[in-house]
Amino acid sequence: MPETSIYLHIPFCVHRCAYCDFNTYAGQEALIPAYIEALIREIESVAARRPDSLPAHSIFFGGGTPSLVPTRHLRAIMDALRQAFALTESIEATLEANPGTVTAQSLAEMRAAGLNRLSFGVQSANPGELRLLERAHDFFDVIQSVQWARQAGFERLNLDLIYGLPEQSLENWQNSVKRIRDLAPDHISMYGLTLEHGTPFGRWAARGLLPIPDPDLSAEMYEWAAEYLASSGYAQYEISNWALPSQESRHNLQYWRNLPYFGFGAGAHGSIDGLRYSNVLRIKTYIDRLTPPCSTPAYPLSPATVNQNRPSLREAMQETMMLGLRLVSEGVSDTAFRTRFGIGIREAFPNEVDELTSLGLLEWHSDALRLTPRARLIGNQVFMRFVGD
Ligand code: SF4
Repeated sequence: MPETSIYLHIPFCVHRCAYCDFNTYAGQEALIPAYIEALIREIESVAARRPDSLPAHSIFFGGGTPSLVPTRHLRAIMDALRQAFALTESIEATLEANPGTVTAQSLAEMRAAGLNRLSFGVQSANPGELRLLERAHDFFDVIQSVQWARQAGFERLNLDLIYGLPEQSLENWQNSVKRIRDLAPDHISMYGLTLEHGTPFGRWAARGLLPIPDPDLSAEMYEWAAEYLASSGYAQYEISNWALPSQESRHNLQYWRNLPYFGFGAGAHGSIDGLRYSNVLRIKTYIDRLTPPCSTPAYPLSPATVNQNRPSLREAMQETMMLGLRLVSEGVSDTAFRTRFGIGIREAFPNEVDELTSLGLLEWHSDALRLTPRARLIGNQVFMRFVGD
C-alpha cells in the first residue's frame, strides 16, 4: 500500500461566514475538549484494528478554524498520530489558520508540536471585501500572522484568496494578489466564489439582493493572476493552486492522485483500501458515538462512520480522471493508470479522449493526459464528460 495521508476535521469557528458551506459551527467552543478526546479515541480505535503501523507522509488539520484549538490539544493529537502511524521523517503537517486567531506564542507551540506548514485563509487584502465576506481579520492581521509564523520556524506557508466577489473590481483583485505575493509565501491558492445553496450568500443572490459576480470578469481575474504569479516564479500545478519549486501541497496531491487517506473528525471523509467513507456531521453526535462503550466496525471504519461505499472499477477510473485532470501540469499518467486498472486511459475512455482532444480541451504531454490552458476555466465541464456513462 502506498504511503497514506491523514485529514483531521476541526469543525469550530468563531462566526459562520455568510458564504461558507463547510461542516463547521459557531458558538460551540465549549465542546472543544470533549471533541479532541473523541478525535483521539477515533484515531486509536482505527489504528487498534490494523495489525501493522501504516506509513503516513502528510497530515492536514482542516476546518472550520483549527487555529482556535488550544495548542496543548494539537500536541495531544500529534502524539496520538505518532503512536498510531509510522510518520515519515519528512512528513508534511499542515494546519489551517485564520489570521487574527494566532499569536507568536501559539505558533511557536504548534511548531514545537510537529506542525511544519500553515495555510492562512486570507481571502482578500481589501477591507470592504473582508467585511462583505464577514471575515474577522484585516490585512494587518495577515502581515502580523505571517511574520510570527516565520519567527516560529514555519518555512512553508500557503495563503488563500477568493476572486469573483460581488462588486469586486479587477483593480482591487490585482491589489490583493500583489500584496499576497509581496509576503512571499511558497504556496498560493485562489478560489472563485461559489454561491452555495443553503448559505446566506446563496439565499441573498437568489432573491436578487447580492449582485451576482460577472463570469467574464471572474475569468479575467483568474487569467491575470495566473500570468502574474507565473511571472513571479510560481508554477500553477492545479486549477486553483500555485507553488514555488517543490513546494506543492503533498497532502492535496494525495487527493488529486486518488491515493489513500484517512479522515478523522465530524464530517471527515476517508478513502482506504478502495473504500470511501464519511463520518457523522454534528459535533455532539460525533462525541456521543466515540464515548465508550463504542461500536467496533471493521477496519478502516470508526464508530463515527455513517456512510461507506466501494466504488466499482469503472467508478474508480472515472474518479481518477476527474481528480487527476485538476493537476494542470502533471495530468493523469497513462502508465500509472494502466498499472492501477490494467488498461490505458484511451482504452477506458475512447470517445471522451478523442472528443475532448479534438476540441482542444485535453492534450497528451509525453505519457500524461492533461487539460489545455484554455480548458482550465471550464475544467468542470471537461471532468463531467468522464462520468457520463
Ligand atoms: S472561517 Fe472559514 S470555515 Fe469558518 S465559517 Fe468562515 S469560511 Fe467557513
